[in-house]
Amino acid sequence: MAETGKQLRGGIDLGGTKIEAIVVDNANTVLGSSRHPTPSTGGPADVAAEMVKAMTDACQVAGIEPTALVGVGVGSPGVIGEATGAVSTARNLPGWEGSFALGPELASELGTKVAIGNDVQVATDAEFALGAGRPYKSLLGVMWGTGVGGGLIVNGKPWVGRGGAGEIGHMVVEIGGARCPCGRRGCMEAYAGRAAMEARARKWQKEQRTDLFKIMTERGRTKLTSSVWARALERKDKLTVELINEAVEALGAGIASAVNLLDVPAVVIGGGLGVRLGEPYVKRIRKAMQPHLFNDTNPPDVLPAALGDAGGALGAALLVKPAPVRRPAARRTRAATST
Ligand SMILES: [Zn+2]
Repeated sequence: MAETGKQLRGGIDLGGTKIEAIVVDNANTVLGSSRHPTPSTGGPADVAAEMVKAMTDACQVAGIEPTALVGVGVGSPGVIGEATGAVSTARNLPGWEGSFALGPELASELGTKVAIGNDVQVATDAEFALGAGRPYKSLLGVMWGTGVGGGLIVNGKPWVGRGGAGEIGHMVVEIGGARCPCGRRGCMEAYAGRAAMEARARKWQKEQRTDLFKIMTERGRTKLTSSVWARALERKDKLTVELINEAVEALGAGIASAVNLLDVPAVVIGGGLGVRLGEPYVKRIRKAMQPHLFNDTNPPDVLPAALGDAGGALGAALLVKPAPVRRPAARRTRAATST
């Protein structure tokens, strides 16, 4: 049982390949964590059931029951109804084209309140509050993974527009260019998203020899995961090097264009590929941005995400507001002003 006054919160990062659940304390120290594969068949109810198992496992490591949590935050792909806890059109999750009341379902199974946010925005919030973005008031988070997502903090607050802001992956880097998974052409993600890169590799492997799919099989994977790309890069596989070069160039043009508009002081690069490839590739992205920057004598800081793979789940846990700290003086003040 948690000691009195310790307000423990849960965080779940719901990804296309894995579900990461953590338990944190007031200081955002991780007390327990668990990782489950995301079901690849079935539907939203199966994914929700796996999320409950992951959260329960993390709680067990932390030595508590899920009902003892102040709440659980979830970073989810798809369109989020923050008020209702519904998630719709989460296309890289199985059978999730429609809407599913994920928040209420998890709340009833875990016996605590649940808050849902956009996965990329919460990862950006985590970097801003706890990671590489701490010294800045505004920043752009770029999550380079299956797709390329963006999160924005402007003057200390998330900027979500009308709910659809941050889609940096669909900045156009080549008019009439490659087909993007979104169906449009020439988006940054069409060149830099891991799913789009895999599609290009599958098409080109007929004409160009590559070890990518051999490495995938060796690692017991069915998709080109970030670790498969990283391994192929280490082996200097020619097609891999070409595809990654193209991705870096596209990221450079897309991110620099966003910076030309926003003039944020910092860009944080995270996501599955971003975290896996790390600083050497962040350095290359910085270099690829330079020719496209209008204000080229004063480029923003471009930094690797500091929280690594845990950033998504930590950001999700930040969605849960801690209950008031139990100090006598504070309690009197809060009681007088409580709403
Ligand atoms: Zn697109």
